[in-house]
Amino acid sequence: MSPVEQSPVTWRPVRDGVYVTTLEPASVNCGLVVGSVGALLVDTGSSPEQGAALRASVGTVTDVPLRHAVLTHHHWDHAFGLAAFPDIETIGHETVAATLTSESGRTTAQEHGLQEVAVPSTAVSVIAARDLGGLHVEIGHFGPGHTGGDLAVLVPEPGVLFAGDLVEQGGPPQVDETTSMRNWPRVMESLLSLCKPDTVVIPGHGDAVDAHFISWEGTGLDAIHGQCEWLVGQGVAAADAYDHPDLQWPWDETWVRQAIAQAYAELAASGVTPSVRTLPIQALPRD
Ligand SMILES: [Zn+2]
Repeated sequence: MSPVEQSPVTWRPVRDGVYVTTLEPASVNCGLVVGSVGALLVDTGSSPEQGAALRASVGTVTDVPLRHAVLTHHHWDHAFGLAAFPDIETIGHETVAATLTSESGRTTAQEHGLQEVAVPSTAVSVIAARDLGGLHVEIGHFGPGHTGGDLAVLVPEPGVLFAGDLVEQGGPPQVDETTSMRNWPRVMESLLSLCKPDTVVIPGHGDAVDAHFISWEGTGLDAIHGQCEWLVGQGVAAADAYDHPDLQWPWDETWVRQAIAQAYAELAASGVTPSVRTLPIQALPRD
């Protein structure tokens, strides 16, 4: 197989019927799955213009019609091309439309020059499947992780998993206010269960990886959350967590500090805050 090229979108074959392209300015990976009767796009790029270029490029790979586009999550570099697909089925997690049209979602859109925000036509709660003719695609949500509304797209045969930003190869996994540091490791276990030893995993950014990488990243995420739980129990404030002498952290300091802040915020939201432990006897009433 040789790469199929058309500026500015160049599709690289991953497995038979499955392609990936990497689009700037965010180096986001978008996917294309081509069956005998229809094609499915994974993520839409960072602007309506880029979405249109993606759509036009499908014709360089196949003559079958593009029938579906799936958003792995609401972030701008994956979702803001959605306006280029008003006449086909567009699929997102059930929370994505509300997130995209929320006040912060609209602010982000305006920062990227968008006056209107397109939303998916089909909302997925947990799982959906689409038959493209000879290729079957499964779309699943495994609880909050990178965002509250991540979808993973699995092509069981020939064995490709589009993980969106749940998996990041080009740098540390990214955190925002919708991230669940507590549940993300569980999501990674679910992704792992979808993989065979030879499954190709396409991350949201960076090079293709495999199941071992999912396991490695999940372990790092679990360590951060577990250490934050322990620190909170020790009465350590979020600002002091990174420098605790007994702990080591995966990934770089800037990123880990963001992840710590998010983990502490989640713990606080569930009623767990740092407090210095006292012996029970100190709490007894005194005469
Ligand atoms: Zn993202």
